Amino acid sequence: MTRNYKIDVDCPACAAKMEAAAKKVEGVKDAVVNFMALKMKVDFEEGTDPGAVMPSVRKACKRVEADCEVFI
Ligand SMILES: [Zn+2]
Repeated sequence: MTRNYKIDVDCPACAAKMEAAAKKVEGVKDAVVNFMALKMKVDFEEGTDPGAVMPSVRKACKRVEADCEVFI
């Protein structure tokens, strides 16, 4: 299952950090950040509830880049 989320981040380097952090979260199969569009596409593991996983994704992103935001 894939979902798109709006994000806020200041530069491509931080966007790449967010992407790497999101990929490590349990329940996330893959994550792709599009800096130009300010969007994050998240592919969830089968049987995963995106609503349960996304708070962890947001937290993981904020850990690597405090000024970023993931709108969930
Ligand atoms: Zn930055």
